[in-house]
Amino acid sequence: MTKEKVVVIKVGGAVVEDETQLSQLLQDFSAIEGKKVLVHGGGRRATQVAARLGIESKMVGGRRITDGEMLDVVTMVYGGLVNKNLVARLQAHHVNALGLTGADMNVIRSHRRPPVAVKGDAGTSQTIDYGYVGDVDTVDGQQLFQLLEQGIIPVMAPLTHDGEGHILNTNADTIASETAKALASYYEVTLVFCFEKKGVLSNPDDDNSVIPVITQADFDRYRADGTISGGMIPKIENALAAIRAGVRQVIITLATAIDGKSGTHIQ
Ligand code: ADP
Repeated sequence: MTKEKVVVIKVGGAVVEDETQLSQLLQDFSAIEGKKVLVHGGGRRATQVAARLGIESKMVGGRRITDGEMLDVVTMVYGGLVNKNLVARLQAHHVNALGLTGADMNVIRSHRRPPVAVKGDAGTSQTIDYGYVGDVDTVDGQQLFQLLEQGIIPVMAPLTHDGEGHILNTNADTIASETAKALASYYEVTLVFCFEKKGVLSNPDDDNSVIPVITQADFDRYRADGTISGGMIPKIENALAAIRAGVRQVIITLATAIDGKSGTHIQ
């Protein structure tokens, strides 16, 4: 039996901040026929709000340390400000959006990441505690299936819960790939990571150097030679994990090109 299609779109932090790209994305997302899910980040907005509240953003190697004060900020900003504005704007496009964190309906459970040992320069080793950061354990695909079957469009914030009353900050790319994986039992899923570039680039300084297809072997090579770095590494790791778990297509593309006709296909 052929499964019905679902598109899971992950919108990156820089796009959420850029009104031109965001309004185009919301219009294109609204125009997608059939079942769909929107997953959003919002990192820079959390940094701005924290600064206004006099809270310092602590980063290690480009990654946020979520201490208790920052957890309050990301809960407010991701679960409130960003999520509810996206929901309201989708409603204006007649999309029946429902904003969710992982705690809502117990959709995504996680556990707090233990401190991790990270290798530094000259063989040194450092232990980093990322704080209230959740690594995903389970996604309730059945709940999401039931919402989608009712014509509801989930809009998911990058927050999960541990089942013991605590919200945890969780990477939005991971939320997107875990959600796509959970939906793969019910639907033929396409996962689209959209951001501010045309795809994964072979030359980070040339916006037109999009790599059309990346396999695990290509990724290992590009990572080793430094072509792929920073936030692109976990994004492609999440993409490859989704493909291995039965997600039909994964595409990394420009926020204004979510039809999947261009960009980088992960296989
Ligand atoms: P998001 O926009 O989804 O929040 P990230 O900022 O975590 O995503 O990761 C995307 C970033 O990865 C890009 O903005 C870019 O700076 C970086 N990057 C590293 N290597 C590449 C590459 N080869 N092609 C495109 N982007 C790359």
